[in-house]
Amino acid sequence: MAIVLTNGKYYIATNKKGGIIKTEAIEGAQTFCSVNAAMRKIFRSPGKCKGYYPYDMENTAYEGSTKIRRRRFSDEEREIIYNKSGGHCELCGQQLLLENMTLDHIVPLSMGGGDSMENLQAACYACNQFKSNILPDFMDRIIKIFLYQTEKKCSKDMKLKIIHKLVEAL
Ligand SMILES: [Zn+2]
Repeated sequence: MAIVLTNGKYYIATNKKGGIIKTEAIEGAQTFCSVNAAMRKIFRSPGKCKGYYPYDMENTAYEGSTKIRRRRFSDEEREIIYNKSGGHCELCGQQLLLENMTLDHIVPLSMGGGDSMENLQAACYACNQFKSNILPDFMDRIIKIFLYQTEKKCSKDMKLKIIHKLVEAL
């Protein structure tokens, strides 16, 4: 399920700093994994979200629209992508069953990525939703979350050790 917030003309999106912006392009809209998650956004920013309501893209989206159309992939194509990804989620590494796999656009459609097979990889549902919810700075954000949570659970020393390891690995 992919829910967006719209007032019928514009969609709620987030800028790089996490602020609320409005866009006419549905592919740039922030997506939510549930109506509740979308409603929480409205409750947090009632002023900016005034007049906006949740809209399920998958039920009714794109019909008659000239916007980017997500292509449907055949079973064969899904299997190729599954095998290319070694049968696991390319984001968290978890093993996946073919039927549970979701297709992740490596470069998101909203950031100019294409619908070609080369731009697709296997991802579990949770990671795929997580990624689309925190675009466009997905990698930066997860590193930030990881370091911050590590610091909270462990200590500043541990955080520094991890930073060194990460920098060495780059
Ligand atoms: Zn995953």
